[in-house]
Amino acid sequence: MNTFNPPNNMTIADFPFPIHTGAIKPKWAEEAQKKGYNILARIVDRMHLALQCKLCGGISKVRHYTLTSANPLCSHCIEQVWQVDAVAAGLEFIKRDPARRNYAFYRMPCGHEISRQFELIKRVAAGETGLRCETCRAAMEVSEAAALGWDLIGPDSEGDPNYRIFQHAECGHTQRIARANIQTQRFSCGGCGIDWPAAPSFIYLMRFISATGRELIKAGFSRNPTSRMHHQLVVGQEMPCEILRTVAVPTGRQALCIEKGLHKMLQLNHPECIVDPASYRGQIRVASEIYDASLTPTILGHLDDIEAELGTNVECRAA
Ligand SMILES: [Zn+2]
Ligand SMILES: [Zn+2]
Ligand SMILES: [Zn+2]
Repeated sequence: MNTFNPPNNMTIADFPFPIHTGAIKPKWAEEAQKKGYNILARIVDRMHLALQCKLCGGISKVRHYTLTSANPLCSHCIEQVWQVDAVAAGLEFIKRDPARRNYAFYRMPCGHEISRQFELIKRVAAGETGLRCETCRAAMEVSEAAALGWDLIGPDSEGDPNYRIFQHAECGHTQRIARANIQTQRFSCGGCGIDWPAAPSFIYLMRFISATGRELIKAGFSRNPTSRMHHQLVVGQEMPCEILRTVAVPTGRQALCIEKGLHKMLQLNHPECIVDPASYRGQIRVASEIYDASLTPTILGHLDDIEAELGTNVECRAA
């Protein structure tokens, strides 16, 4: 007995399943009406129906057994709820997460994609909880530490979510530090033993000649600029480099503050001199703060001003 009618080429508009020509049983039609649907056609094989939601007009592929034995939910109505929840939570609904049943992908205001539970998004929409973007947060933690001369190496070795493992760029020592202490700069290095925020430091200007022959300069601060240049910044020993100028600063905390202000000013007034990190990647171990050498006289001038002001009891204005 052949109960399978070969599907013809007909389909319902915008619904990609072939129509099956078998009759629609009255019991199905009755159940469909009761449960909020119209049956448009039998589709695919003996088992499936195309149901149109009377609320939203969306069409779903449902087994007739599911229709008669359960209360099939309209996937379009459900998705509309997800989309409304997402907008209310300040997000854009992208799609369900195929790997996890109760999750979907959303776009954050920063542009990054996250996967979260529908229920959590409802709570965010209701203002009961917040959301944060791990990508942005990780980038912020990296830059917070980098500004202090430390590299974020990874999560805490003891599994405490408030701690991370950091490496001191100057001496290479790694240690676990609470994130709050990074933010408040309340920690010292177990390797070089220096409580860097309180220890004397230097603002420096260095010059490098890259593999392409381009002259690059870097402004920054360090307790030991020469060591920083040779042992931390330069990858390999071939790259010509020199320190053009240093200004002694009483404390690391003050040096950090002055350095931040200097970069802010340079980025604002000389954006055309910021060098694309791609051009020195693999040569200088730093991700920013490299400028074209044409800015040398300008920065030297700023360093003169900084030195003069330091002599007159300067206050930190950049923080
Ligand atoms: Zn619907
Ligand atoms: Zn983000
Ligand atoms: Zn150290």
